[in-house]
Amino acid sequence: MKAFPELSKVDQDELVERLQQWCLANGLVMYPPNFAKFSVSCAPVTLFPTPLAREAFQAAVDVQKGFNELYANIVSQGKAFLTDILRDLSLFDRDFTGKLFETYQKALALNDGNVKQPLTLGLFRSDYMVDEKDSETSIKQIEFNTVSVSFGGLSPKVGELHNYLNNCGAYDGNYSMPYYDPDSIPISDSSEKLAKGLALADYYYDSQKDQPSTVILFVVQEEERNCFDQRHIEYLLLKEHGVKSFRLSLDEIVSDTTVNSEKLYIKKTMDEVSVVYFRSGYSPSDYAKNSDRCWQARLLLENSLAIKCPSLLTQLSGAKKTQQVLTKREVTKKFLPTISSGDFEKLMSTFVAMYPLDNSPDGKKAKKFAFEQPEKYVLKPQREGGGNNIYKKDIPEFLLKLDEKDWSAYVLMELIEPAVHANKVIRSDDVYTEDIVSELGIFGTVLFDEDEGTIMSNETAGWLLRSKFSSSNEGGVAAGFGCVDSIYLY
Ligand code: ADP
Ligand code: MG
Repeated sequence: MKAFPELSKVDQDELVERLQQWCLANGLVMYPPNFAKFSVSCAPVTLFPTPLAREAFQAAVDVQKGFNELYANIVSQGKAFLTDILRDLSLFDRDFTGKLFETYQKALALNDGNVKQPLTLGLFRSDYMVDEKDSETSIKQIEFNTVSVSFGGLSPKVGELHNYLNNCGAYDGNYSMPYYDPDSIPISDSSEKLAKGLALADYYYDSQKDQPSTVILFVVQEEERNCFDQRHIEYLLLKEHGVKSFRLSLDEIVSDTTVNSEKLYIKKTMDEVSVVYFRSGYSPSDYAKNSDRCWQARLLLENSLAIKCPSLLTQLSGAKKTQQVLTKREVTKKFLPTISSGDFEKLMSTFVAMYPLDNSPDGKKAKKFAFEQPEKYVLKPQREGGGNNIYKKDIPEFLLKLDEKDWSAYVLMELIEPAVHANKVIRSDDVYTEDIVSELGIFGTVLFDEDEGTIMSNETAGWLLRSKFSSSNEGGVAAGFGCVDSIYLY
């Protein structure tokens, strides 16, 4: 493995300027807080690609199709299993998981117990860290995301940026030669592959309905600072697949769309919507303004013929509780009946210990762990989007403030201990030289029939590396803790 380049102050300043201007010229950007629409900032990125062992990277890529299939099968074949989990979670989290589950049930009730559109699109992302505990190196899953996965649009740009900086000689102050072997900084194809996943769902919808020209509806957050990540996918949809897109917030759905003969239309243009792509709706804050109207929107979309990416049940299958239950071999095996034993072992090897905090034998054991060795664990509630977990020594104090019966709303997860690297992070005009740790996300796309269990398409769809200062527990890029990165494979 090569060490990071060492540059003089003058050379580093020049490198940073090249980096910033490349980001602005190529759309590796985000809006800053309190933005005006005409003005962006460079996305926070690392100065150099971060080393990642080739085998670890390949191991994560190799299990992606298995995970896509696992979650598709849980949704199509494990309805009773999921419903049991979700009924429990809903009791503890009435206002959010409860509302999502209730909306799913309402949609079924309005349609004789069936989902209106059985085809569902999953654009998933499985997140890992390379665990270096016990001097073993292996990828371990942080979480499996089934809704609104982000950075698939920006990730390829970071690989391109680092390739540019390498190839133009900026990483080598003395001789202006490529510092890294150019083949060792791969470029993710996630934006193309995610666009292709959406286009395929559009194609299936059209063939189902004999409808040659339909559009994709991006359901987005108002004032989204990471909208360029989404725009890159939108542009590819139009350029590569000839599919137009519209963007609406949850709050605008009821007024700006209409359902006619169960089909969903954009009211203004009367374009028929083939796919509803949620980049919002995964967190309670997405429903905070005009809450009733937002929930009504969710029901309206679920009960239209448009293919949802994802359907409510697919979104709900991504509960951290599901991930915990899947760490039991017999459960995962049941939902992957045709998997080879080699592939099954590879997939299972990505799990760290996860426990319920209930009165089951495992739960009782976990309650002891939480108080006796909290420094080995993270406590996770049923929430997405960062900033919700409780770490290490904060766990006992946190639990003691709750009624013990409410502990079941959480899962206790063994902490992964990743390698630290002395990369540099560029945020605005500041260069931070601090140890970072990285999280590898592998994207996957899967189009499946929620009723029949048929899988029409299952693909691995590129990757993402995000890094954060090792001193911070969490690494939200938009939240200001982290940055996007690329991989130096060794
Ligand atoms: P969210 O849905 O909020 O993204 P995550 O499960 O991804 O929840 O946790 C947020 C962050 O917390 C992760 O990106 C990672 O940095 C850290 N984290 C979560 N679980 C672990 C773990 N088991 N070991 C180490 N870090 C973890
Ligand atoms: Mg996460």
